[in-house]
Amino acid sequence: MFHAQLITLFPGFFDSPLSCSIPARAIRAGLVRVDCLHLRDFAQDKHRKVDDTPYGGGPGMVLKPEPVVAAIRAARHRDPATRVVMLTPSGTRFSQAKALEYVEVGHLTLLCGRYEGFDERICDYVDEQLSLGDYVLSGGEPAALCVLDSVIRLLPGVLGSPESAVLDSFTEDGILDWPHYTRPEVFEGKRVPEVLLSGNHAEIAAWRRRQAIARSRKRRR
Ligand code: SAM
Repeated sequence: MFHAQLITLFPGFFDSPLSCSIPARAIRAGLVRVDCLHLRDFAQDKHRKVDDTPYGGGPGMVLKPEPVVAAIRAARHRDPATRVVMLTPSGTRFSQAKALEYVEVGHLTLLCGRYEGFDERICDYVDEQLSLGDYVLSGGEPAALCVLDSVIRLLPGVLGSPESAVLDSFTEDGILDWPHYTRPEVFEGKRVPEVLLSGNHAEIAAWRRRQAIARSRKRRR
């Protein structure tokens, strides 16, 4: 069973997405377990303060090291095999290869930031720093959800057809997916490409490959 832990100030953020569709089925089937650790439970003063003003001045608040490190230690105590990943725009960029790596690891703790982010010293307590991409979200929760969702659909037994994940974009030699069509054959004057109606599987496979390569060249280079 894949074990995910989420360190967050907003555990409720995950309720709806994890109770729908593929993640919900995977959880029900016992293929994945998700535990939330509420960062505020690790605050060490009576006001349950988790953030403070930045040294050196400037806007916003910074997440304090004491509660965050205590939460990381709790996650490691619960699951000594866990890999602790800090979500930050300054991290290594997430990819399908990374998702596959996490599937192999099997134990993941995703550390969600808020406000201006983490006190820099917290970096010494995590295994890696990960970014969803070169843009700024208001919190780590949407990033954690994307990472978790992409991992869950790769877990053996989660997808109805295991082929789906293998044929997705990026999985096979890093290229994008080919275009898909379904009924009707003509929609507002736009026809399904003839080759897909031919029943010739070799030609269909070759056409799909050409489309995927052309699309990858155009959109990714
Ligand atoms: N001051 C930070 C910066 O410019 O890098 C941005 C902080 S952001 C408003 C608050 C939190 O959202 C971050 O601590 C991080 O956990 C999360 N976050 C925002 N963008 C992200 C991204 N692209 N990838 C992963 N996490 C992100």
